Amino acid sequence: YMAGNRQQLCCVYDQKVKDKYDSRDYVLTHFNEALREGWIQAYFQPEMRAITGKLCGAEALARWVDPEKGVLSPGLFIPVLEEANLIHRLDLCIIEQTCQIIRGMKDENEPMIPISVNLSRIDFQVCDIFKEVDRLRRKYDLSPKLLKIEVTESTLTTAPEALMRAMREFQRAGYDVWMDDFGSGYSSLNNLQSYNFDLIKIDMIFLRNFASNPSVSTIVAAIIDMAKRLGIQTLCEGVETVEQADFLREVGCERLQGFLFAQPLPFEEFIEYFSDHADGYLEPVEENEYYR
Ligand code: C2E
Ligand code: MG
Ligand code: MG
Ligand code: MG
Repeated sequence: YMAGNRQQLCCVYDQKVKDKYDSRDYVLTHFNEALREGWIQAYFQPEMRAITGKLCGAEALARWVDPEKGVLSPGLFIPVLEEANLIHRLDLCIIEQTCQIIRGMKDENEPMIPISVNLSRIDFQVCDIFKEVDRLRRKYDLSPKLLKIEVTESTLTTAPEALMRAMREFQRAGYDVWMDDFGSGYSSLNNLQSYNFDLIKIDMIFLRNFASNPSVSTIVAAIIDMAKRLGIQTLCEGVETVEQADFLREVGCERLQGFLFAQPLPFEEFIEYFSDHADGYLEPVEENEYYR
């Protein structure tokens, strides 16, 4: 019985390992085709201003829309592309689609909203990521204020010098740099004094235990208060309930993002959402900065 059980467990394990290798293989052998054929698509998740509940931005999130396998999530292909030093090609593809959507708003004379894009820690190691991003921005003739640069905490430990240098270049050129997944890593507080982030995105792990654990609200309120004193804006990710949104607004969190408002939406659906909510556009920045 024991032996049989163990054999079964081994089979399950082997199958999992095999699936992982198969999907890794699939991603690597089809990546060029995916880029060429437009399978790599930016989805856009709305970001809301907490006090008004109105649309104030969006985040571009990568999807691999495979003709056979359907829509694949970033968790499946991003680690593989990072390991193969190919992730910057995906990131730049998503950034170009983001520039195109903002350019479209500009051409339609719609009010414009900034859209944030995710950079991988690997981007800072394998290319001059500032130069590449800024080249795309100039190609579409957009103000740097319209592209927010999201950097995860892991970048601070894997490529601190390269990040420091790139961050300075981004900010000198007029971009805002945001710290993604704040609080999910190890040295969050220490990092806030050495890096000059314009906004921190509070990781959704906090909200996961919001209802069951009363200390969560104390911690989140303290993070928001601390950020405020440091002159850093805050956005909370993963907002799923009205209770969470009410609490975050009360403790002064400026922006909210999560399924309560909308999922990440494919291009056309986002354009529709945007048209319905575009009058909610509110940014505490001179409007002409966007139209520069
Ligand atoms: P992230 O940048 O922290 O993005 C937020 C993730 O949370 C997204 O997952 C989003 O779909 C999900 N999310 C948003 N609201 C809610 C909610 O209310 N509840 C829950 N449970 N989840 C919510 P997604 O799209 O699967 O992306 C996962 C991660 O993959 C991202 O985390 C980011 O680190 C990475 N990623 C996504 N797109 C790109 C990209 O273009 N380039 C790079 N380098 N990384 C990317
Ligand atoms: Mg992000
Ligand atoms: Mg995040
Ligand atoms: Mg995350």
